[in-house]
Amino acid sequence: MRTPLLCSHCKRQITGRYFKDYWGNSYHVEHLNKVPTCNYCGRLISRELTKGGTTYSDGRRICMLCHKSAVEDRVKGKLLLKTVHHKLENLGIEILPFRPEFYLIDRSRLKSLAGSSEKQGFARFQRETVNGIIRNFTMDIYILKGLPESSFITACAHELMHIWFYSRNLTDLSPQLEEGSCQFTAYLILKDMISPEASYRIHQLMEDKSPIYGKGFQKVFKMAESKGVKYWLNYVQNHKRIL
Ligand SMILES: [Zn+2]
Ligand SMILES: [Zn+2]
Ligand SMILES: [Zn+2]
Repeated sequence: MRTPLLCSHCKRQITGRYFKDYWGNSYHVEHLNKVPTCNYCGRLISRELTKGGTTYSDGRRICMLCHKSAVEDRVKGKLLLKTVHHKLENLGIEILPFRPEFYLIDRSRLKSLAGSSEKQGFARFQRETVNGIIRNFTMDIYILKGLPESSFITACAHELMHIWFYSRNLTDLSPQLEEGSCQFTAYLILKDMISPEASYRIHQLMEDKSPIYGKGFQKVFKMAESKGVKYWLNYVQNHKRIL
């Protein structure tokens, strides 16, 4: 006899239709509209499964498994940002000089800065040019407060790649090539992290079907996986779009 399938939320047996999340938990379909889902891992928030959860003042829901690593402190955030920057340098993605102003912000502030375009962070860049040559630049990096560490790192890598583009005066790339490259940069950092959370972020990147971020990532991924990271970095400096 097969062991009965139990619902990870209510622990009762499942006989009819059910829903399975990325982590292998199965749930009765009827919970889906009633029980809040964690914005960061997709689990249903419950005492048993996620040790509960919390709602941020801007409405985001986060379970306690994700909240454990949440970045809510500016000093911790800046340290992680520097670590990501260092890893990018090792990949040949150099931003010099690197003196970012760094801020943790809520969703309404992010929306007022970035509109609906960026989901977890935003970068602002200003440069001083003399005869067309960049002499100096300043950068502000804004990341949503309270992201679990793996999401925070994803957002940092993405925004740092935008800054790399600006710092090289590469400002007229197609949104698909630019956003896809920024997502791919996050992938490069995540794939070395070897944690279940990092694997989940990679899964999200891979499964994203949106026309700019998702499709862009898939195209850049395909190029860099077959021809290498160096080829891709060279490509973005010599092309405006990706086919
Ligand atoms: Zn149930
Ligand atoms: Zn979660
Ligand atoms: Zn972006």
